[in-house]
Amino acid sequence: MINPKLLNQFLVEPGSEVNLKEYVTDWTETDNAKELGKDAIKERAKEILEQSREEMNKAQELLYASDTHSVLIVLQAMDAAGKDGTIRHVMSGVNPQGCQVFSFKKPSAEELDHNFLWRYMKSLPERGRIGIFNRSYYEDVLVVKVHPEWLGPGAPAKPDKHFWEKRYEDINNFEKHLSRNGTLVLKFFLHLSKDEQKRRFLERLTNPDKHWKFSEADLAEREHWKSYRKAFEDAISATSTKRAPWHIIPADRKYVARALVADIITTSIQGLGLEYPKVSEAQLAKLAAARAKLEGSDKDVETES
Ligand code: AMP
Ligand code: MG
Repeated sequence: MINPKLLNQFLVEPGSEVNLKEYVTDWTETDNAKELGKDAIKERAKEILEQSREEMNKAQELLYASDTHSVLIVLQAMDAAGKDGTIRHVMSGVNPQGCQVFSFKKPSAEELDHNFLWRYMKSLPERGRIGIFNRSYYEDVLVVKVHPEWLGPGAPAKPDKHFWEKRYEDINNFEKHLSRNGTLVLKFFLHLSKDEQKRRFLERLTNPDKHWKFSEADLAEREHWKSYRKAFEDAISATSTKRAPWHIIPADRKYVARALVADIITTSIQGLGLEYPKVSEAQLAKLAAARAKLEGSDKDVETES
């Protein structure tokens, strides 16, 4: 697993003011990484992902057996940062019955008629499960902060800074409520550079197998890059808490992002210190009696036939 000291650099200290320029998008370009070399990092990242998958499967089984906690993973990013691929690779070793993925698109008219957290509450993971939000209630302080006209009926035409501060407060209270009630909340911002986004969009336009992924709307949103960056900085600064911290994950190299996310999820679940339910002396006696009865009944069947 990855050294916790290394992981710490991706964790947003509660109360800190985030400047995304201070966070790398390509981890292989950092001094530490350069010493190792890209090939060695790629190999190591694959090993970590593989190991994390196995450990995560065991951790989820324990999560289900102990029946005291659930895990909510929130994934946010600019377009083409690799949210879908990260979910596919990181969760592929987990029992499908143990995890649920919800992807949130533009809200429906019905959803806009409710408070902004309503549609997410309905999709929260039950005890024992890992729930993944591919986009989340953070869209309600990100995309709509860049486009307030999409806030829907009932919202102010020109929301002021207090409007957004109240939403951050609602989110912090919501996550506090979840955490107090046994949900481990882990939030990841896949941090992509503008150049790498351009490369990935061009790949979608060039490679016929990837044409389906291209949307003209993505190009329109790219024009608002600076506003999105500011919205992310404000939201992450206001909502990275001890109970529900943000991780800023360098996402220009998919293998780096996947290994980091997998490792953080696995070690965080392991950190809950869960245990399999203890079997009492009385229950053990009942199990022994049931075993004796079952073994005896097999002998009966053999003598009967
Ligand atoms: P995709 O994830 O590429 O399928 O795109 C989903 C789209 O839905 C993105 O453009 C999001 O910004 C948009 N979206 C998700 N949640 C909201 C929201 N609460 N309000 C407005 N747009 C949203
Ligand atoms: Mg898209």
